Amino acid sequence: MKSSVMVLQGLSLCKFCQKRLGFKLGKDNSEGEENSCYVCGGMMARVKPLAEEIVAKLGEYEYNTFLVGASVPHTVLDNEDELRSRFKIKGRDSVKSQITKLLSQKVKQQTGKAVNYSRPDLTVLASMNEGLITINLRSVWLRGRYVKLRRGLPQRSSVCGICSGLGCAECDYKGRTIDSVQSKISDFLTGVFAAEGCNFVWLGSEDDNSLVSGSGRPFYVEVTKPKKRFAMKEVLTSRGNGGKRKTFFRTKEVQIKELELLERRVTDVPQFEITAQVNLKRKTDAPPFGDSQIESLEKNFSNVLTSVRLSRKFRTVQKEIRGISCKTRDGGETIELLLNCDGGIPLKKLVSGQDETVRPNLGAYFSSYEIDPEKPFDILNVTMKKGSTMIPGLGKDTPALNDLGYDSN
Ligand SMILES: [Zn+2]
Ligand SMILES: [Zn+2]
Repeated sequence: MKSSVMVLQGLSLCKFCQKRLGFKLGKDNSEGEENSCYVCGGMMARVKPLAEEIVAKLGEYEYNTFLVGASVPHTVLDNEDELRSRFKIKGRDSVKSQITKLLSQKVKQQTGKAVNYSRPDLTVLASMNEGLITINLRSVWLRGRYVKLRRGLPQRSSVCGICSGLGCAECDYKGRTIDSVQSKISDFLTGVFAAEGCNFVWLGSEDDNSLVSGSGRPFYVEVTKPKKRFAMKEVLTSRGNGGKRKTFFRTKEVQIKELELLERRVTDVPQFEITAQVNLKRKTDAPPFGDSQIESLEKNFSNVLTSVRLSRKFRTVQKEIRGISCKTRDGGETIELLLNCDGGIPLKKLVSGQDETVRPNLGAYFSSYEIDPEKPFDILNVTMKKGSTMIPGLGKDTPALNDLGYDSN
């Protein structure tokens, strides 16, 4: 049998390594002798079957672009380096780039998808040592708004109190509470994209007992490891209107509106202002609120700046209150305050004056009243403003805006 392995001063090289390093190619192939290749020890012969395996695996994903990377055992790299310096070989592909080229070509031919170096939909990592294939899927980012129709539903999930995060029947083996806006939106999107999970960035938050109406509260969401990357496009286009101003998800508790795909990951979020209604009720035997107090309140809190002390930080931020209107009901038994202000003011603290977190606040006006714990405040509208806030450390464990001091609206 003829040998494909060229004998170079007593060294054997397989046809891949000969070609790559610029030696004159031997004639035929012989499986047996490839294993004795001085550089790769026969590793190059395993590239083709691995490519077939990659193509088969990619069949379960939706993607347009891909990138292949390879990890190669150190001994192979060292052998190649040594040979290069011994024969003064310069300006040729390394064994690693030859492998990635071979794999990429094969995948491209068989799937018709394109290689993308900067932002591939998915990345294939071939570990040549163990013959393992790892596939990483680029996240999908979306923006939307949610409407909350049931009191007592928290915005965010918390660690499950029963299993402390390990996963149990109560939390559907998620380790986090499932009765939340977060969990419901996450279930919906995870299903649509056949994804692993969702990371949220909320534009503010509200009390568990608050409702969110109007066009809803904006949020950004990263859908991680989406197997069906294009699923949402179909949903968006099938509902027409470019996918805007539509309800995409509708239950008795939560609705998603204005959902849209984003081109890139989100690194900063817009500033926003809110319209909210705060509900107060009179404490026993206390005198009811009078017209002169209403007048004074409305006048003193029109276009004023208030400073908000950020939680866990010795820092304050200035926020604007554009206007407050006050309505008494049932002879002063209850009060409805309609507030229009910047996002990021903790509304309960603004009204109660508690801890002087917000200054000036309405505490002095409402000593005879308390915020109704059953329905403390409702968000009627959220509007985006110019200007934006950076989201620090986004990616690993996406921080909610609460961590930036946006406590309770
Ligand atoms: Zn070789
Ligand atoms: Zn649990």
